[in-house]
Amino acid sequence: MGDMRPIRNIVILTGAGVSAESGIDTFRSAGGLWEQHRVEDVATPEGFARDPELVLRFYDMRRAAIQTKAPNAAHEALGRLDAAWPGELLIVTQNVDDLHERGGARRLLHMHGEHLLAWCTSCDMRSPWTGPLIERPACPACDTRALRPDVVWFGEVPYHMDAINGALREADLFVSIGTSGAVYPAAGFVRSARALGARTLELNLEAGKGASWFHESRLGPATELVPAWVEEVLASR
Ligand code: NAD
Repeated sequence: MGDMRPIRNIVILTGAGVSAESGIDTFRSAGGLWEQHRVEDVATPEGFARDPELVLRFYDMRRAAIQTKAPNAAHEALGRLDAAWPGELLIVTQNVDDLHERGGARRLLHMHGEHLLAWCTSCDMRSPWTGPLIERPACPACDTRALRPDVVWFGEVPYHMDAINGALREADLFVSIGTSGAVYPAAGFVRSARALGARTLELNLEAGKGASWFHESRLGPATELVPAWVEEVLASR
């Protein structure tokens, strides 16, 4: 990375691959099916309107499941990097689990929402949520029974886009970890970052769709690649 500007500002994009070794299934690993369900049925507003019971039950199961999982060496390495990195750093995750937080990450944005929040479509309040939603509990803020998982579905606008685009503009280094590059707008971040002058690095089990946009790709499991890269970047401070 010698001929590039010095690295101060880092943006890291993570996807389902970073949580795979914690025992949380990725999406495409099951051939586009998600725990035996079609994405259109369980991850779109139309699917929710058609069969709310199915969708609530699906997210109730996943919300319960993530609470039995633990962060892995990749989450923990990113937590160490966040704590030690003196420049700007932003971890943007597409994941809706809370394993980055539990791995120590603080400068973190969930662009696709969080399993452990319930969103009231009546009063717009978000409430911490660990239990089921299938029984239609009342919103703690307004008492209306209009809670849904605070997860961004296909066709909905991801969260925090202004902050993410601002960080991409300032990034010296953009790192993509464990994401297939199939879901936009996240899949386009590498192109924006590179056009704006950042060095770009992919850490993935298999090269994602946008592989040609990366200056460098390292292929392997996140629990090996991420701690090694974190050591390297911390040593370069
Ligand atoms: P994806 O399933 O499309 O792709 C997973 C990627 O992870 C692939 O590129 C694969 O090569 C890589 N991978 C698999 N195992 C790995 C490992 N051990 N180490 C490193 N990389 C590994 O996931 P995506 O790109 O994140 O996009 C799918 C969408 O599904 C996202 O919007 C996300 O919100 C959602 N999702 C979230 C979770 C979660 O919260 N943990 C899980 C599944 C899907």
